[in-house]
Amino acid sequence: MGYEPATDRYSGKMQYKYCGNSGLLLPRISLGLWHNFGDVDDFGVATDMLRYAFDHGVTHFDLANNYGPSPGSAEINFGRIFRNNFDAYRDEIIVSSKAGHEMWPGPYGDRSSRKNLMASIDQSLRRTGLDYFDIFYSHRYDGITPVEETIQALIDIVKQGKALYAGISKYPPEKARIAYQMLKENGVPCLINQSRYSMFDREIENGTLSLAAEFGVGFIAFSPLAQGLLTNKYLHGIPEDSRAAKVTGFLKRDQVTEDKIAVALQLNEIAESRGQTLAQMALAWVLKDERVTSVIVGASSVKQLADNLQAVENLSFTPEEIIRIESLISP
Ligand code: NDP
Repeated sequence: MGYEPATDRYSGKMQYKYCGNSGLLLPRISLGLWHNFGDVDDFGVATDMLRYAFDHGVTHFDLANNYGPSPGSAEINFGRIFRNNFDAYRDEIIVSSKAGHEMWPGPYGDRSSRKNLMASIDQSLRRTGLDYFDIFYSHRYDGITPVEETIQALIDIVKQGKALYAGISKYPPEKARIAYQMLKENGVPCLINQSRYSMFDREIENGTLSLAAEFGVGFIAFSPLAQGLLTNKYLHGIPEDSRAAKVTGFLKRDQVTEDKIAVALQLNEIAESRGQTLAQMALAWVLKDERVTSVIVGASSVKQLADNLQAVENLSFTPEEIIRIESLISP
């Protein structure tokens, strides 16, 4: 059956926010393809999730060269699904990709050299079949490559028309500052910073968020559900169909600690008192900060995605709720 997107996809199901000082609106909830879109995963479920997302106003899909497994297969699968479903809607969709983690053998397939980024964007365009990415990221500061080398490659990628905007991911603040300054001076202002942020990981509150705001750069949080720990998934053990139980999952069993689950159970009670699921409250908690443009959620089913997208129905917290949550999660 051919796919016809829902005609009411922009009638209020999703909210949008300007990304930093740019003119680009992003949905408050974006969909990430790190897990569940590789060639070990169900292609039908992957297709259904992307259709459901678009039908509900999710216009931003987040990829990277190495997503799979196997590495690259998420881009290949996304490309197939895109061609069969969304080709006519390219101008309604933001597709992001990244380079900088290990991807191909030899000395150039890893890290953030100019050689790596330039080769990688061409590979990613071929895999997805797209003419350009909307956002292209340096996936990480690698600790060795000078920031100036990586950022010059991002500037050239945008100037060559292979991406519309540039972003950085997981840069320590002192390196992010150099990147923002250089991008600005070269007429390619950094659109967005992508870093890990959730009730269970608040490291970026120590500088990354305020620095992005200082430069007018948007912020997008990855793993806002702490890979599932901030959902009802692990409240009563580790289910067989979970990321923590799968050999291909990045969440390891030993990360599902008793302490974390004890906190999640108490957070779940607060969520229930708000009429939300824990996942919805966890997303609302990240999105309540004015400096946060969007969260990138992962999902392994349409049901989970549907649950998550309903978070936008209640993004505000009472001062009492904030205090109760803070008492449970403050570092
Ligand atoms: P989340 O924290 O949203 O975790 C997603 C996982 O949580 C799902 O796969 C599912 O696990 C579980 N889950 C999601 N919703 C529900 C729900 N409603 N109820 C129960 N369980 C649920 O994000 P990810 O860690 O997947 O990261 C999101 C995206 O961020 C990635 O896809 C990627 O695009 C980006 N990212 C970027 C990184 C970077 O370095 N820049 C690094 C990591 C991620 P299960 O499979 O067990 O059902």
